Amino acid sequence: MSTEDGPGLRTTVFLKGCSLQCSWCHNPEAMCMGPQLVWHSSKCIGAGACEAVCPEDAIVRRDGTIIVDSARCTLCGDCVEGCPSAAMEILGTVWELDALVAEVAKDRSYFDISGGGVTISGGEPGLQAPFVGAFLDRCRALGLGTAVDTAGLISRTALVELARRSDVVLYDLKEIDSGRHACVTGQPNERILGNVIALGELMRAEGCPRDLWIRTPLIPGVTATEENLRGIGAFLAEHLAGVVSRWELCAFNNLAADKYGRLGLEWPFQGVPLLTRQQLRDAENVARDSGVDPAIVIATGRTRVGEGE
Ligand code: SF4
Ligand code: SF4
Repeated sequence: MSTEDGPGLRTTVFLKGCSLQCSWCHNPEAMCMGPQLVWHSSKCIGAGACEAVCPEDAIVRRDGTIIVDSARCTLCGDCVEGCPSAAMEILGTVWELDALVAEVAKDRSYFDISGGGVTISGGEPGLQAPFVGAFLDRCRALGLGTAVDTAGLISRTALVELARRSDVVLYDLKEIDSGRHACVTGQPNERILGNVIALGELMRAEGCPRDLWIRTPLIPGVTATEENLRGIGAFLAEHLAGVVSRWELCAFNNLAADKYGRLGLEWPFQGVPLLTRQQLRDAENVARDSGVDPAIVIATGRTRVGEGE
């Protein structure tokens, strides 16, 4: 029931593994390719069953906290099975193609009434392009709408193969300055920019994908600056005029804070407030004034309650 990952009502498949390491990442469980064991402190009743059943002695309870020695853990799942309060969980499931297609096809009545479909996201779906390509082919054969959500740091071949099988490509442009992009995501952006230009050429030549949505996360103190929005807008106006149907400014959200805690990671944005409604409007106005068709700009996401109304 996603309404954010493409047109209509959608079922989104999130793949693990990413080619970037964005400092604000809202899906930290998607950064690493393999399954991960997590402990939900809020569900733990201190029964100690996980420690007792672990065949590798990988679990230690200390001061009300569960510490898992990832070097010893084999992800056997015994602690997940053994916990009476579902406080242990393995994130990430291996799906076979037939099973995944059957799972998403269950939602087709929602897609049919809303113009929606399936979105494959991540992480970075382009890192598993052969599987994703086969999945999209199967969805299309069933008449399901298809969309791919990519951050663009993938091979050109993978991008083209996935774009040819998608009605919509959602493409992240986070930071226009390559040096700053490298600072906040771990990688420079030249390939990302080159790939989206190539995607525009594909659209002009072959008419696919039908729609290209650019998405920019508005991260306070990082990407949510006038300079960045003007830079991205100028890039879109120069290279992608007429092919981008939507430039979405996605407001920072803090829903990921708990996920970081469960993964035993620090989140540098802990305590950072949401944007005010006025800040979101200002960002939207900057984007509309940056050289793109103002009609393609849309700002989405939650804002701070009670301030900047
Ligand atoms: S998944 Fe298996 S090896 Fe890992 S902590 Fe749980 S019981 Fe131990
Ligand atoms: S590209 Fe997306 S999933 Fe990957 S690290 Fe950045 S925000 Fe997270």
